[in-house]
Amino acid sequence: MRILLANPRGFCAGVNRALQSLRIAVSKFDNQTVYVYHEIVHNSCVVRHYAEMGVRFVQSLEAIPVGSVLMFSAHGVSPEVRREAERKSLQVIDATCPLVSQVHRAVRRYAEQGCHVIYIGHPGHDEVVGTIGEAPGRITLISTESDVRALVESRDPNYAEMRLACLMQTTLSVSQTQRIVESLQRHFPKIEIPGKDICYATQNRQEAVRQLARRSDTAIVVGSANSSNSRRLREIAEEQGIIARLIDGADEIDLSWFTGRETVMITAGASAPEYIVEACVLRLKENFDVRIEDVVTCEEHVVFPLPTSLNS
Ligand code: SF4
Repeated sequence: MRILLANPRGFCAGVNRALQSLRIAVSKFDNQTVYVYHEIVHNSCVVRHYAEMGVRFVQSLEAIPVGSVLMFSAHGVSPEVRREAERKSLQVIDATCPLVSQVHRAVRRYAEQGCHVIYIGHPGHDEVVGTIGEAPGRITLISTESDVRALVESRDPNYAEMRLACLMQTTLSVSQTQRIVESLQRHFPKIEIPGKDICYATQNRQEAVRQLARRSDTAIVVGSANSSNSRRLREIAEEQGIIARLIDGADEIDLSWFTGRETVMITAGASAPEYIVEACVLRLKENFDVRIEDVVTCEEHVVFPLPTSLNS
């Protein structure tokens, strides 16, 4: 069996920053509970690890005692959550990925200019909920090309008469989003599209999968089911015509998946730790005669500074 290790894979700069922030917060506030609003990143192994260290992951701020330490996850939060944290005098550490914050700022800027934002994203995702919260009355969420058709047919409000801008979730499929954007441009030629919000890490991991799929029979994507960018990696491998499995850990590997398969690509979503990739490789090594090739499709050197509140 030949294993092609996609590179880049796994942790991105935003996830590294969030996890480093959480590690520092846990040691800095060792006599207090550190609360995190939502999962720090969408990976069940990472969340379990920190929960075992005493970190409490919460879905609302209600149960958090006044004055506690609270971290916002890499996916960001709405202004309403920030205001609630302020009302409760929580000590906030903001681990929102700077690339997500950039989209929040763009939503605010367009809303202040009287523009209506068409935002492409997945309903209910933490990042999407936080971003929409920046200007709930001035933003419309769409996810598919048929949603664009629904906008065209809509008369209340009449999108054809509005000044429109298009922004998007950072972890979407580049190719699927491109089709939605082209459809928007066809129907609303004046729509402003300031740039590509799909982040560098998402794009690079997707491109690596696209390239390696040409040389593979099957793909293993390490990542959790609720990780948007991990799910996109599986979809992209499938779009290229190979079977792809999304797994949280090496114990989920079923050896029968590889019967009659010669080349297996392994990649990992931006929130999936490298030690799980290593465990998957080890599992295959123990059961097959393997040759491993690390295939670098692009180099990444992005590093984000830590939240300033950790310096005080
Ligand atoms: Fe930031 Fe992109 Fe990583 Fe999300 S996937 S945390 S936007 S770098």
